[in-house]
Amino acid sequence: MKKRILLLAGGQSGEHEVSLMSARSVLNALPKDQFDVTPVVISKQGRWLPPTETQRALDSGEAATGGDLVLHRVASAEGYDAVFPLLHGPMGEDGTVQGLLTLAGIPFVGSGVLGSAVSMDKVMTKQVLESAGIPQVAWRLAVRREWQQQPDAVRDRAAGLGFPLFVKPANLGSSVGISKVNTPDELDAALNLAFGLDRRVILEAMTSHKPREVEVGILGNDAPIASPVGELRFAADFYDYETKYTEGRATMHIPAPLPPEVAERVRSVALTAFRALDCAGLARVDFFYVEETGELLLNEVNTMPGFTTTSMYPKLFEAAGLGYSELVTRLVTLALEER
Ligand code: ADP
Ligand code: MG
Ligand code: MG
Repeated sequence: MKKRILLLAGGQSGEHEVSLMSARSVLNALPKDQFDVTPVVISKQGRWLPPTETQRALDSGEAATGGDLVLHRVASAEGYDAVFPLLHGPMGEDGTVQGLLTLAGIPFVGSGVLGSAVSMDKVMTKQVLESAGIPQVAWRLAVRREWQQQPDAVRDRAAGLGFPLFVKPANLGSSVGISKVNTPDELDAALNLAFGLDRRVILEAMTSHKPREVEVGILGNDAPIASPVGELRFAADFYDYETKYTEGRATMHIPAPLPPEVAERVRSVALTAFRALDCAGLARVDFFYVEETGELLLNEVNTMPGFTTTSMYPKLFEAAGLGYSELVTRLVTLALEER
């Protein structure tokens, strides 16, 4: 019997359009003889679109408005064997949708509430990984109320990390709201930008030199495997939004030209992180490799990484011999697995 799959895409975050691109690839790739796939696009306002509007959104690449309140439509998710929540960022990758699906009793692709929520928040991730003994850059937390009431305390905390430093909203992706702060006089603008997007902001020391950026894919539930390691190269000062989404600004190198023991360290630290964060199904774990010092610092864990046919995660597993269509089939199978 064919499995009935509900594919959720779009969503309320800044990565709405990226999600729709990924969804088109996944829709084409799930084998028709095994799966009966129904896409539902979530508008930027968070409402679930009916079939004709969903199709229109998939064709046009975005849906600003329309649809029903999620709680009216979730009942229509019953009767599916599994859901593929192909959503990035807040209100999709952060445990909210995962909680809704858990309550509705429907299996889904990827991490559960805990793994999704902890991995989405850069501060919470750092705390958990610190307790697992994983090397990371020095960091501090600041919350919006503090910035409003004791700005000097926040400025001092940031300055304590030294310049340049990075200021980031704790719960975002795609480099949205991230600043590299080179001098103290650039700090306030960076903090205002980040606090405009999140209540929680992470302050991070910059790596000692411009790092090499290497990424690895993890696949599986309680017996996860790691892909070969990939590397991103770009001319920009850091991997900002423009560099990520402008064709030709960055190049992907798979496998990353790294000494074998460094690549092995990447894979083994990534597996430790995946387990420590209670991730499931898939994750892309991103690192900084500081060639000058040999340091390997874990940067972040993405529980629903970009998923077009040319995205890093599928490319990493393709290099391991697992094609795109086999990969998405495997992810659905993992969702249906008893845990
Ligand atoms: P996002 O979740 O939006 O991708 P990241 O934490 O990965 O945010 O930061 C985006 C980019 O900013 C990184 O890929 C890297 O280029 C740069 N960057 C972030 N933090 C640091 C840091 N502490 N040291 C050096 N570069 C950094
Ligand atoms: Mg991220
Ligand atoms: Mg990143």
